[in-house]
Amino acid sequence: AATAPLLAIRDVSTYYGSVAALRGVDLEVGEGEIVTLIGANGAGKSTLMMTIFGAPQARTGSVVYAGQDITRLPTHAIARLGLAQSPEGRRVFPRMSVFENLQMGASLHGGRHFAGDLERVCALFPRLKERLQQRAGTMSGGEQQMLAIGRALMSRPRLLLLDEPSLGLAPLVVKGIFDAIRDLNRQDGMTIFLVEQNAYHALKLAHRGYVLVNGRVTMSGTGRQLLDDPAVKSAYLEGG
Ligand code: ATP
Repeated sequence: AATAPLLAIRDVSTYYGSVAALRGVDLEVGEGEIVTLIGANGAGKSTLMMTIFGAPQARTGSVVYAGQDITRLPTHAIARLGLAQSPEGRRVFPRMSVFENLQMGASLHGGRHFAGDLERVCALFPRLKERLQQRAGTMSGGEQQMLAIGRALMSRPRLLLLDEPSLGLAPLVVKGIFDAIRDLNRQDGMTIFLVEQNAYHALKLAHRGYVLVNGRVTMSGTGRQLLDDPAVKSAYLEGG
């Protein structure tokens, strides 16, 4: 028998006022998988990410994580359950140093594993290692994105949620970030849910993917199946 998914989103609808941003979304992430959600601007990708964290909450349907219904839990309670998020727009603390930002990520579990986890993040992103004392706000966009991911990793997540890690970055930096995501999955067995506009990279990396259009999942399959799908190709891959 198949084991229960680590994250199960069942028939979720989320509204901003009277406007539906998600309409009956069903999606699963299994332990050890990389799953990606692709879609155009405004499709509702970030809203799904935020709904998992309970802000805004789903109006209907349920979000179940590790067998627990988290649909109505407050965000701070959800964050304690082993999910970590690197939000869109790389929200680092700009006046703090790189090191202090990473400390903030670790503070959730008291920092017992701090030294080892810091070493791992530095190995994954050598750029950060060279800049531990630099103020985060003076780092380049790509470096801040690495820091946002590194900070999420410091909380030792069982499930890492990434919202558009490639946004606005040069191709070489994007490649570095996607390589790091692959390593985390292969070497640490970390489960990763990745929201991306960069469909090509995301589908190449992911075991499975979902396509979101106007708040609805219109297609799902393995990364390979979606990459080869003519409709996905014409809507998300051409010219990309
Ligand atoms: P992008 O790739 O451009 O970030 P997205 O797929 O992440 O897009 P969302 O940010 O989830 O899309 O937005 C989905 C829809 O919900 C859009 O129509 C957006 O205008 C709307 N929306 C998002 N946030 C709010 C809000 N706080 N209040 C009202 N409407 C919102």
